Amino acid sequence: MKHNTLSYAIIAAALTSSLTVQANDDNFNYVVDRFADIEVLRYKVPGFEDLSLQQKQLVYHLTEAALAGRDILWDQNGRYNLPIRDLLETTFLNYTGSKKDPNYQAFEKYLKQVEFGNGIHHHYSTDKFVPEFSKEWFVAQVGDDAPANFDELLEVIFNPAVMPKRVNQAAGEDLILTSANNLYGEGVTQPEVEAYFAALKDPADTTPISYGRNSRIVKKDGKLVEEVYKVGGLYSPAIERIVANLEKAATFAENDRQRQVINTLIKYYRTGDLKDFDEYSIQWVEDLDSRVDFINGFIESYGDPLGMTGSWESIVNFKNNEASHRTELISDNAQWFEDHSPVDPRFRREKVKGVSAKVITAAILAGDSYPATPIGINLPNANWIRSSHGSKSVTIENITQAYDEASHGNGFNEEFVIDQPTRDLLDKYLFITDNLHTDLHECLGHGSGQLLPGVDPDALRAHGSTLEETRADLFALYYLADPKLVELGLLDNPEAYKAEYYKYILNGLMTQLMRIEPGKDVEEAHMRNRKLIAEWVYEQGKPDNVIELVNIDGKTFVKINDYQALRQLFGKLLAEIQRIKSEGDYQAGADLVEKYAVKVDPKLHQEVLDRYSKLSIAPYKGFVNPVYTLVTDNDGNVTDVTVTYDESYLQQHLRYSRDYSTLPQ
Ligand code: ZN
Repeated sequence: MKHNTLSYAIIAAALTSSLTVQANDDNFNYVVDRFADIEVLRYKVPGFEDLSLQQKQLVYHLTEAALAGRDILWDQNGRYNLPIRDLLETTFLNYTGSKKDPNYQAFEKYLKQVEFGNGIHHHYSTDKFVPEFSKEWFVAQVGDDAPANFDELLEVIFNPAVMPKRVNQAAGEDLILTSANNLYGEGVTQPEVEAYFAALKDPADTTPISYGRNSRIVKKDGKLVEEVYKVGGLYSPAIERIVANLEKAATFAENDRQRQVINTLIKYYRTGDLKDFDEYSIQWVEDLDSRVDFINGFIESYGDPLGMTGSWESIVNFKNNEASHRTELISDNAQWFEDHSPVDPRFRREKVKGVSAKVITAAILAGDSYPATPIGINLPNANWIRSSHGSKSVTIENITQAYDEASHGNGFNEEFVIDQPTRDLLDKYLFITDNLHTDLHECLGHGSGQLLPGVDPDALRAHGSTLEETRADLFALYYLADPKLVELGLLDNPEAYKAEYYKYILNGLMTQLMRIEPGKDVEEAHMRNRKLIAEWVYEQGKPDNVIELVNIDGKTFVKINDYQALRQLFGKLLAEIQRIKSEGDYQAGADLVEKYAVKVDPKLHQEVLDRYSKLSIAPYKGFVNPVYTLVTDNDGNVTDVTVTYDESYLQQHLRYSRDYSTLPQ
């Protein structure tokens, strides 16, 4: 099969050209592309110019280390993803027919979806994409360039029964056998994996490693074996390239502590030993002085139905010093918030530990954080490291800013917000209260509260993540309306919180349903959490008419009559959720989730979908990255690093495939 040997000039010419834009340009073009259920944005990196040359070079090499891991995530997401990507991209670049051909247009859409999903499954629902072009057309386009396993690839692309879901969470099924991801080898079953780890785990170990975090589990001669992701192990070519770039980055470290962090990460990539990963995580969480920071590794485990293996990701960032005053104020007052929280004092933490919070500017998104990305992150994930060494919590403000800017004028508020005064309130205060909500959720919410002695942290089982997000959101919602925020200078108006309250209830009761297909339930943990909160306060507030759903000209609107009563309801639910968590009351948690968080009112759902369809707002958003370039003088010395924003969506993915393909395609 022919490879992507075409030059970048041809790649660029094959794509619609995009405007060249600069970060300081008022006409910065946030929206880059729109297809299927996706809108692609670009984000600015304000303040990059003001970094020192050394910091800029550090960022540069860390971004190279980030991009070097791209293929790992693709292969983790499914074992056919890399050959399929290669097949699709080559076919796209070689295509010479009419771009108006409906088959071609459907093919281009499919390619864009696959690039967005880092594979053939949707990044959020994890359902397999359905190609809308014909198999015959595709076979004809590939022609003589077909790879040896072409028939197998065709079956994976076109047969909906083959690998239908990347992460299957349906209770009662073998979650490993029925999930299409590549974290487990052929024929490995859920009971086998559970037994394997149960045998390894020592219940008395107070500092357990993150079992299974960096390996693929396969069956050899009837026994389970871990193929470890490391230099010399699985994904070695990609990891070697990550390491080479980290080594360069280390030479530009801002201080010895940061250099040590990078070197320990390199050590871990070489040994694959999860004890080294813990050592790295501790050094990383304790590095609070460096301006530049990064995540690089097998971190989050949402891609594994058993929540063990980490998906590879990287985010490189630097601290937004000015905006971080906000999160520093919050974390400096963490104990005050904990002491005044509306939960039973037995469930409060006597001493809140190590909440470090900052606002950051992302410089690059990669792996599982690209193109779709979180807006807030709290790491490390290991519980014992969090309680003995603390955690770092970040809000990525250049990303939230891009979302905010891109949403202006999309018609959403006019369609769904009840009246002009409420729309004005949202215009004025939603950006700041939304950011504060993220700060409070990440840096206080998740860290608050304690389990009663002897309670198993996993007692809430399958509902654990939903209820944990519910707890963090309620903590944030409750305090958003507290006079303390005005007193601390975080808000300049005691009414500002109403903007976030209104949007939260509107989203939880109605507008988030746009992500759900008719007839389906709410599945994802964050969506369930928002629905649980909104439905519960709506129902509990009914006797006092706290929240109303009113009908105006045949359309449903959320009307909030008593914001202070709503705050008290958030506090009441927080107390109950904290009790459930602290006591490990599985049944009460399951009852709440099942009653409020899962089932959708079909009539309201259809109305939301109809109203949305007229707005053409995409349910999901993601990003293209900026491009960093080293500037050298005549002697080859680096004199600057520039950042530009002119790549289009497919252009970026095709360039990444050309320049950062590290694993066999
Ligand atoms: Zn959270």
